[in-house]
Amino acid sequence: MNLPICTKDAKEGKLCSKCKQKLESNEINQVDVELSRILFRLAEKETIPNEINLVKTKTIKENNKKDKETVLALVEGNPAVLIGRGGRIIRLISEKLGKDVKVIKNGSPVQIINDLASPVRACGINILYRTDQSEEKYITLPKERKNKVGISVEKMEKLINKLTDEKYKIKYI
Ligand SMILES: [Zn+2]
Repeated sequence: MNLPICTKDAKEGKLCSKCKQKLESNEINQVDVELSRILFRLAEKETIPNEINLVKTKTIKENNKKDKETVLALVEGNPAVLIGRGGRIIRLISEKLGKDVKVIKNGSPVQIINDLASPVRACGINILYRTDQSEEKYITLPKERKNKVGISVEKMEKLINKLTDEKYKIKYI
């Protein structure tokens, strides 16, 4: 299991100087640390398998629900093992962290959108170059399958921009 902090820290519940430095320089955040410990302990108890890596987390505020925060956990491996049957595992993790956790498989922006919009797949990325040299990046989805997508354009944009630290727009074409 690869985590944003070293295994020793995840096990012992404190941070070595190297990981502390990462936290202080904002290379990792406090939620990365807390979630790493939770996942490590769950793997130790064999509630989840070891073959899952946490890449990073990003926290977003939900507009419609006041003060409600959702943690996006970007993982490598099969995200389903963190969700569990009927969402049992993800509920447990969310409860331990005290925040709603959403697991997203690490990948390119298009792959992430494919997961969010599943079963609909993105058509690709279009880049629009403006006369002032700026560019706008669009990830496009097929318009005729829009009713199969269970997530809004606004939400997909918010998630992808937060996860990639880049600006993408989502467009049905
Ligand atoms: Zn460490």
